Amino acid sequence: MSAVKEPSFRESVDLMFNRAVALMDLPPGLEEKIRVCNATYTVRFGVRLRGEMRTFTGYRSVHSEHMEPVKGGIRFAGSVNQDEVEALAALMTYKCALVEAPFGGSKGGLCIDPREYDEHELEQITRRFAYELAKRDLIHPSQNVPAPDMGTGEREMAWIADQYARMNTTDINARACVTGKPLNAGGISGRVEATGRGVQYALREFFRYEEDVAKAGMTGKLKGKTVVVQGLGNVGYHAAKFLSEEDGSKIIGVIERDGAVVSKNGLDVEGLHAWIMKHGGVKGYPDASYVENGAEVLEEDCDILIPAALEGVINLSNAARITAPLIIEAANGPVTAGADEILRDKGTVIIPDMYANAGGVTVSYFEWVKNLSHIRFGRMQRRQEEARHELVVDQLESLSDAMGKAWSPDPDFKQKYLRGADELELVRSGLDDTMRIAYQSMRKVWHERDDVVDLRTAAYLVSIEKVAASYRAKGL
Ligand code: NAD
Repeated sequence: MSAVKEPSFRESVDLMFNRAVALMDLPPGLEEKIRVCNATYTVRFGVRLRGEMRTFTGYRSVHSEHMEPVKGGIRFAGSVNQDEVEALAALMTYKCALVEAPFGGSKGGLCIDPREYDEHELEQITRRFAYELAKRDLIHPSQNVPAPDMGTGEREMAWIADQYARMNTTDINARACVTGKPLNAGGISGRVEATGRGVQYALREFFRYEEDVAKAGMTGKLKGKTVVVQGLGNVGYHAAKFLSEEDGSKIIGVIERDGAVVSKNGLDVEGLHAWIMKHGGVKGYPDASYVENGAEVLEEDCDILIPAALEGVINLSNAARITAPLIIEAANGPVTAGADEILRDKGTVIIPDMYANAGGVTVSYFEWVKNLSHIRFGRMQRRQEEARHELVVDQLESLSDAMGKAWSPDPDFKQKYLRGADELELVRSGLDDTMRIAYQSMRKVWHERDDVVDLRTAAYLVSIEKVAASYRAKGL
């Protein structure tokens, strides 16, 4: 098996795409049109730092413009390359279609290890990169809207938004040029944790269907399930935190750059996260055993494996030894096409990336809509909703008085029922709804078609069909 060549990330995505379209009846021209990446812009720019000029290389790929704006994160990592950015842009196309976010697919990346620069230097570099992209409309509220990805977060998005606003002083929608901004710079409540929250909602939805859980050879709900997470960054940390705090799952292993920590009794996610923030890695963390070769822990005996760091970590070299019956791809592309085949043959159920980590783009969509409408969600309705609920409660109270019976609801019923939804609640409700509906659309194909044996192929079928419909509607 080791003689088989591992495909690149982009080849992996294409192979998975091809596997799905083979089961569809698309005209070959349209199939090709959907698969190919429309354009990739490469930029090299210089920034004067520490007394010398340093040159940086960045990319912005536009995979499909069947809907505009196109959308996709910007990654800061030393390993960024064109192949990776194009693969990620393609996944964005399929992801947006699957969760019905009205965007085409795009992605950006800058070859830089952000840990090597201080905040001021990073701001200079980010602003310069944003300038290069914005002047070619590769950052634009109606054409191309980036978001955070590995190595970037709210801070970088705020710099990008500000840079765009400086270059477009009369654009009233300037804030909609990027999502994932801090709340005070046009962001939306719940965006930071959205991708991890989406992973939690995806797992909750999966565990609502006994027959799906049975396909992974499991029974029961999330409570008590053992979990291994790779990457305790934005996505991995929030997923692990919510699953352990709210669903009773047990995080028994966390893999980071410098190794892994394992504890059969369950790790304290908050404590471990604080340790990583302070020490830069998991090594030395008390109350857990340390494993120097972190990747080995991917093979640990657990119920759910959550790769939430980077692509290609489950590949031809280790797929056969992965024992988790359920893998949820919080990262993009963590399982290569070859590994996918090995795991499929073993009966491992994989909840695919384009669905599993779609919580980020879903809440980004809400943020974009908020920016374009210039009003916080819930601002108009909240108190009116409360007043109407109060009417019902008053009526119930007077009814029980008239009947001479004291009405004694649950102590917190009144407080919960009377409260109108604020922005965070609306965002969570919209995200939960999106994750449920998208899962249902995938599982329908998975269960109804004999030739579809896995959720990934089902996800591709649903999303490619939507992209194709959109091209057909344009007369292509
Ligand atoms: P992040 O930079 O916040 O976190 C990545 C984490 O992985 C860090 O803790 C890092 O130390 C760790 N890591 C890096 N290399 C590793 C290695 N070799 N082994 C183990 N751990 C390693 O990034 P993120 O935003 O959480 O993104 C993680 C993945 O999720 C990426 O694949 C990204 O494309 C995907 N994703 C992110 C979002 C989002 O909203 N941030 C949305 C969708 C998908």
